[in-house]
Amino acid sequence: MKKPLVVGNWKMNLDYVEALHLVQQVGVMLKNKPVEHVDVVLVPPFVDLRSVTSIVESERIPVGVGAQHVNANDAGAHTGEVSVAMLKRLNVGWVIVGHSERRAAYAMSDDVVVATLRQVVRNGVRAVLCVGEVLEVRDEGGENDFVKAQLVSALKGLDPKYHELVSVAYEPIWAIGTGRNATSEQVADMTTHIRSVLAGLAMPGIHVLYGGSVNAENAGTLMAEGRVDGFLVGGASLKAESFLSIVQSCNDCYDGKR
Ligand code: PEP
Repeated sequence: MKKPLVVGNWKMNLDYVEALHLVQQVGVMLKNKPVEHVDVVLVPPFVDLRSVTSIVESERIPVGVGAQHVNANDAGAHTGEVSVAMLKRLNVGWVIVGHSERRAAYAMSDDVVVATLRQVVRNGVRAVLCVGEVLEVRDEGGENDFVKAQLVSALKGLDPKYHELVSVAYEPIWAIGTGRNATSEQVADMTTHIRSVLAGLAMPGIHVLYGGSVNAENAGTLMAEGRVDGFLVGGASLKAESFLSIVQSCNDCYDGKR
């Protein structure tokens, strides 16, 4: 079993004062109850990154910090965008690439996903690549082909020296923010499928996460039965208690299975 990875995507929530408050709470709770066996990453909005990385460093909080998106270009005329170099300067070590909300609402095409992922890893930053189908695709039984196409499009031909910087998050779009998580069986079937696609791309060792209405109640079961290497968490990452219960479930599960 790989060391689990739990990534908290705050989306467009929490201004920098609220962000500081949440990070401090996470820091105190991790100090009181350390989690030895989980890598934890917080992913605030861009404008919170400076204050979040500062406090993580000064208080030595054992979490990584990520960004929710980045531009695929080095620099230049890209109004409103942020470059990987800018993130690195802030010690941001992770970027979520191709989240379904960016694909759907901000026209992030497969081509832009590939370019972004390569730009991230070329700069030595870790990428969490999001894949997942809409409900109509699942209702027609097309989810495996759909997810395979997304993975192949994003990862085929990636230089092997960058493989260790990539994680994949399976996020069925019908389960994101809806309160309707995929069942452990659906998750296990898909993570097995994803691992076989990754093996075909000569990327067998990478983390496969699940995301979609994960909370303190369902995390333990999904972890134990869903054959996941961790979670990408949205709503439940906005409160220290619920986020750290998920982290703790992963920690306990890893401890029990090691
Ligand atoms: C997400 O958007 O990555 C996500 C998993 O959200 P939620 O946990 O709120 O469903």
